[in-house]
Amino acid sequence: MKATVVRAVNAGFVSADLEIAAPVGREVLVDVKASGLCHTDLTMSKFDLGVPFPAVFGHEVAGVVAEVGPDVVELAVGDHVVGCLVQYCGACVKCLSGKVFQCLHPESTLRAPDEPARLTENGTPVTQAFGLGGFAQQALIHENQLVKVPDEVPFPQAALLGCGVVTGAGAVLNTANVQAGDSIVVIGAGGVGLNAINGALVAGAATIIAVDIADDKLTKARSFGATHVVNSAEVDPVEAVRQITGNGADAVFDFVGTRAVATQGLEMVAPGGGLYLIGVIDPTSHLDVHQVGLIGSQKRVQGVYMGSTTAKRDIAMYARLYLEGRFELDALLSKEIALDEVNEGYEALHDPNVTRVVITSL
Ligand SMILES: [Zn+2]
Ligand SMILES: [Zn+2]
Repeated sequence: MKATVVRAVNAGFVSADLEIAAPVGREVLVDVKASGLCHTDLTMSKFDLGVPFPAVFGHEVAGVVAEVGPDVVELAVGDHVVGCLVQYCGACVKCLSGKVFQCLHPESTLRAPDEPARLTENGTPVTQAFGLGGFAQQALIHENQLVKVPDEVPFPQAALLGCGVVTGAGAVLNTANVQAGDSIVVIGAGGVGLNAINGALVAGAATIIAVDIADDKLTKARSFGATHVVNSAEVDPVEAVRQITGNGADAVFDFVGTRAVATQGLEMVAPGGGLYLIGVIDPTSHLDVHQVGLIGSQKRVQGVYMGSTTAKRDIAMYARLYLEGRFELDALLSKEIALDEVNEGYEALHDPNVTRVVITSL
């Protein structure tokens, strides 16, 4: 089967012909129909972050079940499915407490090192990043990482549910538990931040402030439901948020991830509110907090992993909301590309008018 692989650190995405194993146990073979380009894959491909090369990336994958392993119980051939990179065992105390995103044995959705690899090239193992490997015509995935979605959801839109949507909307709905009437700030109105705005609409937030340095992105944020927009290149965003809210925001979501932005974000938080850290544009960034100030204001700072998602619940919910016209996915899609155009696709994402790029020709 055709795939796009990264052969070494920062070597770029190149075409390859790989062998894919037959499903065993709870594995599901998926014919990939759409695969989204997420910045995390680009970062993982550019730096030595523990992923052995060669590797197939791609963790926003939607497709059709082609074959199931003998122990699969939740999916059948022909089902439309979306993959999610949250790997969980379903049996540890975290999973049993409803926190699959904190699973103690995420490796249980992968094959053990002494088992034959799922992906090989002329017999040599190829890493399947995050247990998904969506930049390929087929993917062999544990059923815990797959969610059935209605056939009516188009594949490109479905693919986005797997990471960008659960991350952005989940931070609002799950991690911060935003309530009706709350005020929130979304810093960074890109392909993930827009989903946080949508999540805030679903939650019934009264005030939704989008902060960005690109007017094009702020215009898009308004169309997604932001009640206020702030261009932080033109005005002091902390002052602007205080003027709009009076007392600061109940929840501030940082989709950028630099020290300067997170510091501003914490200053925007109202007493008793929270700053939620999602973006990682600078992986070396550190945030200084005044401890007594934090105690007095009762603010919290929380890191968010994958929108604290229980994918089988959340992805099914977002798919239903999309079909009901209550969750915007169509306007996220800017560009569709072929499997051998991943490098060009990531280049295109530098354009502030390009929100999400999805492989649809495989
Ligand atoms: Zn992602
Ligand atoms: Zn677990």
